[in-house]
Amino acid sequence: MIYMLHIENIKLLLILPLTILMFYHSSPELFSEEMKPDTQVLTVSKNIELSLEEEELVHEIEELEEKIYKHYDVETEKKLALVYLKYSKFLVQENHFQEAKEYLDIAKGLGVNQEKAKEISMLLEEKQPVEMKNNVISHLLPDGKERVSRKFQPTDNFIFRRNVVYALFEQAGSFYEAKNYELAKTPTKKILEYEPNNKLANELLGNIHYQLQELKEAEFYWEKAVSRDSLDRINKKRSKLKKELPLEEGLLSVEEEHFKIRYASSNQQYTSYDLKLLLREAYKEIYQDFSTPLKGKIVVLMYEKKDFENKIRSSHLTGALFDGKIRMPFLNKQRGSEREMKRLIWHELTHAFIYNYAGDKVPLWLNEGVAQYYENKVIPIQLRFFWTTYRRNKLLNLRGLSLGEKIFKNTETTTLFYQQSFVFVDYLIERFGFYKVRELLKELGKEENVDSAFLKVFSLSAKEVERRWLKWLEGK
Ligand SMILES: [Zn+2]
Repeated sequence: MIYMLHIENIKLLLILPLTILMFYHSSPELFSEEMKPDTQVLTVSKNIELSLEEEELVHEIEELEEKIYKHYDVETEKKLALVYLKYSKFLVQENHFQEAKEYLDIAKGLGVNQEKAKEISMLLEEKQPVEMKNNVISHLLPDGKERVSRKFQPTDNFIFRRNVVYALFEQAGSFYEAKNYELAKTPTKKILEYEPNNKLANELLGNIHYQLQELKEAEFYWEKAVSRDSLDRINKKRSKLKKELPLEEGLLSVEEEHFKIRYASSNQQYTSYDLKLLLREAYKEIYQDFSTPLKGKIVVLMYEKKDFENKIRSSHLTGALFDGKIRMPFLNKQRGSEREMKRLIWHELTHAFIYNYAGDKVPLWLNEGVAQYYENKVIPIQLRFFWTTYRRNKLLNLRGLSLGEKIFKNTETTTLFYQQSFVFVDYLIERFGFYKVRELLKELGKEENVDSAFLKVFSLSAKEVERRWLKWLEGK
């Protein structure tokens, strides 16, 4: 007998990156007060009169800096580098060599056009006095007063970098949370350009590669991310990866609009064309109800059956699983298991849609109920055990269902949980419509409690909905 149990490990996997980002925000040693975005140090002291030209340049710099600290983007950075360079040239002409050099350095650090930088370097070389070459530096004006315009403190460069890194983390984090992994790469890589040894950025980039099924790259960055604080966390990920890497090597790969597919190669008689077709058909059907497309491509891993059983699943009850990626056995077409493949795909892809639509906090009964609602369209769910239990008056109440995994004491409670979740959700869809169940997913995904979510969505108490469901069962 086949039981359909799909253990969701998404929590373990997906909470981690968020924790990392929160950790980044709150970690005292990494993000002490002076590293928080702070443009104050870079503000001009207005106690000397600047020429109109200088005033304009400084103003332009300040505007761009403010912009980039709020929201990092490459274009602004390029513009900023260019204005730094312009200002540097201006300062050379005005004989403020030390400041000119500092602005030139930071412009170079931002990867400004080498030709232009060189031109100013030469100009500086040519004009600067000998003392400056010997590192005797003065900000003194010809009349002996200190020039207090926009001069860099030695720390400014550092603060500038931290501010940009901070902005980049915010950006990478929001892309990551939105599961736009491809987009999250750019800001994360940019952080590593500034700070190649930033452990959290390395870990995040490892996570991103892992989500995109770029396992070798994930391994590379996770290795660089190990620190005393992150040792356990990273080791957990790396040991999972270690198991997956050799399996990955044996898989063929094909991409489609919504999917990144890896499938076992030996002797299965499914072509990549068949697989794309199977997945596309499921996508179309489920998408119709959710009306929200999946963000990015979903990774689908079809392992050799024995590999899935021995190395991927954690219990013999697990037929397939979704942990942010769909993982399933690649069944042999020959044994007439096409429907079984299809059933697994429809079920797991529904989990992907739910996760995409309402996050990873949706209660298990609702998650599994909806997944089985689609699975049932392929092969009808066997409900014998449910009806026997119903007649013996031993069904779970909604509170019991809400316990989720905690009630999986044995095969019987697990089977009842799955079957009852299906029957209940099927009722909700039939009575209230799928769009209402979609609303319920959203509400419960926000960790709203069951009572208030039901009241909000169905305008009925959870108890009342349950009572009506039992009444409906009587007529079956
Ligand atoms: Zn499931």
